[in-house]
Amino acid sequence: MTLSFDLTTEGARDALRARAAPAENPSLIGLTRAELGAALVESGIVPERQARMRAQQLWHWMYVRGVSDFAGMFNISKDLRAELGKHFTVARPEIVEEQISSDGTRKWLFRFPPRGAGRPVEIETVYIPEEGRGTLCISSQVGCTLTCSFCHTGTQKLVRNLTAEEILAQLLTARDRLGDFPDRDTPDGAVVPAEGRKVSNIVMMGMGEPLYNFEAVKKALLIASDGDGLSLSKRRITLSTSGVVPEIFRTGDEIGVMLAISLHATNDDLRDLLVPINKKYPLKELIAACRAYPGLSNARRITFEYVMLKDVNDSIEDAKGLIKLLKGIPAKINLIPFNPWPGTNYQCSDWETIEKFADYINNAGYASPIRTPRGRDILAACGQLKSESERMRKVDRLALEAMMIAGHGEA
Ligand code: SAH
Ligand code: SF4
Repeated sequence: MTLSFDLTTEGARDALRARAAPAENPSLIGLTRAELGAALVESGIVPERQARMRAQQLWHWMYVRGVSDFAGMFNISKDLRAELGKHFTVARPEIVEEQISSDGTRKWLFRFPPRGAGRPVEIETVYIPEEGRGTLCISSQVGCTLTCSFCHTGTQKLVRNLTAEEILAQLLTARDRLGDFPDRDTPDGAVVPAEGRKVSNIVMMGMGEPLYNFEAVKKALLIASDGDGLSLSKRRITLSTSGVVPEIFRTGDEIGVMLAISLHATNDDLRDLLVPINKKYPLKELIAACRAYPGLSNARRITFEYVMLKDVNDSIEDAKGLIKLLKGIPAKINLIPFNPWPGTNYQCSDWETIEKFADYINNAGYASPIRTPRGRDILAACGQLKSESERMRKVDRLALEAMMIAGHGEA
C-alpha cells in the first residue's frame, strides 16, 4: 500500500474546514500594497494618514509570518484587529483533501467559493520535494480553454480564471502545511529539502493556461517575489505556456520570471494536432517570441518541455528537428514521460527510446533532464490535476478502510 494520509479522520478535516475563510468577507490576500491601503481606508477603519503603515504591517503578517487570522497580529491593537475581522479575512481556502505519495510528493485539493453566479470550484496543487529544493506546481485556471490532445485538463471546459488571491492561497496553504513559515513545525515524517525553504521553487504548470489569465497571474507572482514578503526569487519561479505569443514578451517584461514553453513538436503539422493553439501562433512566431524574451541569456535559459509520445514525436528525426529549431536560443530541454489517463489514445514512449532521444540532445550540447515521474500513486503529475480526484477519492477511502480493518497503516 503506497498511499498515506494526513487528513484521515473527519475530525482533522473538520478542523481544517473551521479554519477556512468565512465566505462573506473579502480577503486581503492578493491585493497590491496600494490596493490594500485603499481597502483599509474605504472600510473606514483606518485613517488615510495611516494607510501605508497599516498596509505594510499587514503585508508583513500575511506574507512573512504567514498568519491566517487577525488575532495573531500582535503589534496591532485588539480593537483594530476586531474591526479588521469584521470587514475582511486573511483565512486559507478549504482543503478538501491532502494526499501524500510514498515518495513524499503531496497533492492538495482546494475548494474556492463561487465568484459571482458560479458554483464552488476545486483545483489541485502539487508539492514535489527533492534533495536541494521543494517545488510547488500551481494552477492558474479551473479547466482550460485550450485542447491539447494529450492533456487531460484539455478535455475539461474552462470553468473560470482563478483570482490572484486563489493563486497565492495555494502557495500560502502549502507553506502552512509544510511548516514553511517562521516558528512553525514541519509535520513529522514529511519529506522536505534538508536545508532552506520547504517551498523554494514555483512552477505555473498546474491546471490552466497562465497567459490566458495574465493579470491575476502577474499580480500573484509579483507578490510571491516581493522582497519584503514571500520573497521567492524570480529565478525560482517558472511560468509554463502552451504558446500564447502576444503575452510572452509581457511575461518577461512585466513579471520577470523564468519561461517554459510546452513545445512537444518541431513542425507545424504535428504541433497543430498536439497543441492546437499552434494554428493561431505557429512555430515561427513562437520561436521569434522566445528569441526576444527579456533577460534571455545563458544564465537565464528558456525551458522547452517535450512530452514523449510513443511513435508520435519520439524518433531521432524529431530530436534532430528539435536541435535545429532551437539553434541559437539559450535553452534547456525538459523531456516529460507522457502520463496516461483513462480514455487517451496516446502511450508513453519506451524508456529506451526516451534515453536515446535524451542522448542525442545531450550530445548536441543541451542539458536535457528527463522529468522523473513523481507521485504516480496519487496521480500528481502536472497536466493531470484534478481530473481523477472524484474517482480517486472513493477508491482511496476504500483502500484506507481496508488498511484500518486489517489493523495496519496509519489512521
Ligand atoms: N497550460 C500550460 C501549463 C500547464 S500544463 C502549458 O500547457 O504549458 C504543464 C505541462 O504538462 C505542459 O508542458 C503540458 O504540455 C504537460 N502535460 C499535460 N498533460 C500531460 C500528460 N498527460 N503527460 C505529461 N505531460 C503533460
Ligand atoms: Fe491547457 Fe496546458 Fe493542458 Fe494545453 S497542456 S490543455 S494549455 S493545461
